[in-house]
Amino acid sequence: MEYTHEQLIEIDDKYGAHNYKPLDVVISKGKGVWVWDVAGNKYMDMLSSYSALNHGHCNPKIIEKIKEQLDKLTLTSRAFRNDKLPLFLKKVCEVTGMEMALPMNTGAEAVETAIKAARKWGYKVKGIPLNKAEIIVASNNFHGRTTTIISFSTEEQYKDGFGPLTPGFKIIPYQDADAIKKIVSKNTAAVMLEPIQGEGGIIVPPHGYLKKVKQICKENNVLFILDEIQTGLGRTGKLFAWEWDGAKPDVIILGKALGGGIYPVSVVASSREILGVFKPGDHGSTFGGNPIGAVAAIAALDYILEENLPERANKLGGHFIGKLRTLKSKVIKEIRGKGLLIGMELYEPARLYAEQIKEKGILCKETHDLVLRFAPPLIITKEELDWAFERVKTVFSE
Ligand SMILES: *Cc1c(COP(=O)(O)O)cnc(C)c1O
Repeated sequence: MEYTHEQLIEIDDKYGAHNYKPLDVVISKGKGVWVWDVAGNKYMDMLSSYSALNHGHCNPKIIEKIKEQLDKLTLTSRAFRNDKLPLFLKKVCEVTGMEMALPMNTGAEAVETAIKAARKWGYKVKGIPLNKAEIIVASNNFHGRTTTIISFSTEEQYKDGFGPLTPGFKIIPYQDADAIKKIVSKNTAAVMLEPIQGEGGIIVPPHGYLKKVKQICKENNVLFILDEIQTGLGRTGKLFAWEWDGAKPDVIILGKALGGGIYPVSVVASSREILGVFKPGDHGSTFGGNPIGAVAAIAALDYILEENLPERANKLGGHFIGKLRTLKSKVIKEIRGKGLLIGMELYEPARLYAEQIKEKGILCKETHDLVLRFAPPLIITKEELDWAFERVKTVFSE
């Protein structure tokens, strides 16, 4: 039996926990930048699953590799080795310029992994007294939803009712390097930041900020960790957002688009000194490093490099931001972003506009109450962006 739009929403709401408030579009098919709902309506996806779909929906090159692997081997766990994981690790290290990598599945798991690595490094290498390690993070951050990660969120709702929280984190204002300098201590193991805050509303720090933070970290023997789960892999117009500031981190965290929009794959990449602190039994994941994920990630990375998606995001992002800035509307407060990670801050609830833009055939979503995020797949064409602009324009002139 075929279910209707209304029936599917009813079943969803009846049987699913209500931890999301999705737009009421029920998607059943996707290709490139386009998706179709169960009634056959076509929409452009301008959210890309929060940048997990940099490669577009159902990218045929990545699907082909995964299909091939599906018939061969799907899972070994790390109790045994498999023939794809080593190649994935090598590729990640080459692409990030790191020496070692540790594979996980979701972004939050990789962030947890980076936190564990930093703490252990703090005790074993830096010599911080046991259980005294501190990690400095920024206000307005988003690093995921585990109990430890929400412990250092400044978003009250993320924490409300989920305590007791994990100690050991110091929160300083984002974009303020001096605040880090003031608070850093001999017990500081790491500073962890997003190069651009994505969920926080597409907050682009001033040029030089990351470089300053990196310098402070270096001077104080503190690890500089960048969460590039959303900003990495071409989204901001460089392969990694840190490149804009020439501030290569000691530890980089990747996820989202690493799985080509098909399979959850995340990774922490760093130096031998840092990831070398993990000994057998210290940490793990049943699915982390599985051959399907490994093949997906290799194909995803190859595709980004072969198709030069960062350069494409840079050019097209500049083009689209330029167009958005020509919109004359009292509702628009600011348009900001880098590459194809674009935020439009409004004076009114962004949700209302996301709903109206949906009626024009474009799916985008509010982040925080007042910011609309435009982050289409990086394979989008200039013609498709211009098509989108004309529709967005009608909404802001109505
Ligand atoms: C999405 C995101 C995460 C969490 O990733 P999940 O796969 O949802 O766990 C962490 N950090 C940043 C910057 C993100 O954008």
